[in-house]
Amino acid sequence: GVADIGVTGLAVMGSNLARNFARNGYTVAVHNRSYGKTQALIDAHGGDGEFVPSESTADFVASLKAPRTVIIMVKAGGPTDAVIEDLASHMEPGDIIVDGGNAHFPDTIRREKALRERGFHFVGTGVSGGEEGALNGPSIMPGGTKEAYATLGPMLEKISAKVDGVPCSTYIGPDGAGHYVKMVHNGIEYADMQLIAEAYDLLRSALGLSAAEIGKVFEEWNTGDLESYLIEITADVLQHTDAETGKAFVDVVLDQAEQKGTGRWTVQSALDLGVPITGIAEATFARALSGSLPQREAARAAGLAAETAGWSVADKDAFIEDVRRALYASKVVAYSQGFDQIAAASLENGWNIDRGACARIWRGGCIIRARFLNRITEAYERDAELPLLISDPYFASAVGDGVASWRRVVAGAALNGIPVPAFSSSLSYYDGVRAERLPAALIQAQRDFFGAHTYHRVDKDGVFHTEWSADRSETPQG
Ligand code: NDP
Repeated sequence: GVADIGVTGLAVMGSNLARNFARNGYTVAVHNRSYGKTQALIDAHGGDGEFVPSESTADFVASLKAPRTVIIMVKAGGPTDAVIEDLASHMEPGDIIVDGGNAHFPDTIRREKALRERGFHFVGTGVSGGEEGALNGPSIMPGGTKEAYATLGPMLEKISAKVDGVPCSTYIGPDGAGHYVKMVHNGIEYADMQLIAEAYDLLRSALGLSAAEIGKVFEEWNTGDLESYLIEITADVLQHTDAETGKAFVDVVLDQAEQKGTGRWTVQSALDLGVPITGIAEATFARALSGSLPQREAARAAGLAAETAGWSVADKDAFIEDVRRALYASKVVAYSQGFDQIAAASLENGWNIDRGACARIWRGGCIIRARFLNRITEAYERDAELPLLISDPYFASAVGDGVASWRRVVAGAALNGIPVPAFSSSLSYYDGVRAERLPAALIQAQRDFFGAHTYHRVDKDGVFHTEWSADRSETPQG
């Protein structure tokens, strides 16, 4: 064979990735279940570089140089398993099968194990940045073996986004590590979007600004610490006018946010690991609430009391600055929680994930690309074992500087009936994690009362139980 790499599954993501490889000088074998898409790619973009189209899987595999490396970009789930099976029946031990789709990480762990037993390298790879990223440089999160990365890695680094010349692709860790990190990336994206939406809602409710005026505020914010792709597109969306009605576009869009599942997967995994990712969870639930139509209808019909006074803000500019600081602090907390989750999953699965490297490859190509990811990379460079991102000196003071603003904004929202689940839960997390003492002591006492679940004491070692229904004497256990 002559091709350096193969791509099978030539819908929008696969064809754009194939074109990206070709534009970077690789000879790319291309294949799709139905040949029409393969032909369409060659007809429209054959001039991008060297393509070797094949109609059959056998020809496709035969067109590749050994060790044969194939990236699968098909619908996640059953279709991915079908394509893996088809490929494996034509490939040879030592070959590399890469799944670039949005697989759920337990599927990746299962597939890696099964293919390893047959002598193949299986690389579950997160690819972020949508179609645009796939074509012009995505953020890429490959798992699998280091041996496979030695062949595949340089090609992925070549086609990935670059920030200051540094590729947004790096080896993440064994089996499901790449897809796991991509999943948490998406969870963080949910939190980031929800926080931005709450900031918008606050500015609108408290100051009565128009969508376009708020767009200008976001444009301004995008020149500072908050600089990011999501803030940038928010400024753009808010200033967009609906052609048909002449209204602000955001006002003609139905207020029901949908989801494809990666936020839910992130929260489910966090629950399994016992990691509090309140920002991501609230963001996921906020989307669910927006779609809870019978409940929203019933609440409106019942005329649920608001008991709010009109929100009158004395100093408009000071309020905007408060919201900006509250947004930054909440965002840092959401990222801190996401990185805790990655650390916990890494420990649980023996993945040895470098969190600083994750932040580094998220700086470009992906939806959560942002200036402040540099700061996160630096924090993990200072201390690779950092137990809490917001305890790093830079973030401790960045968040600390915004705490008064954060409290004013959350309190104002509560007094005026504006829902800010992500702002307020992030602040509660911050106050919880920094508390000298938590009311968890009472919970443990209750557990001992009704279930003899025992407790530890602050003043001596050991495990104790109190005879609550008898003489309330305390007995050391075992
Ligand atoms: P789709 O998810 O729409 O999948 C379409 C492709 O899957 C077609 O090539 C189709 O072939 C193929 N396919 C479906 N079922 C089978 C099957 N049983 N056997 C063989 N091939 C099959 O394409 P996208 O390009 O949108 O996404 C590809 C992958 O990338 C998905 O896993 C997606 O989650 C992921 N992804 C998508 C992003 C995006 O922004 N869209 C971003 C990052 C990842 P045929 O033409 O013959 O029907």
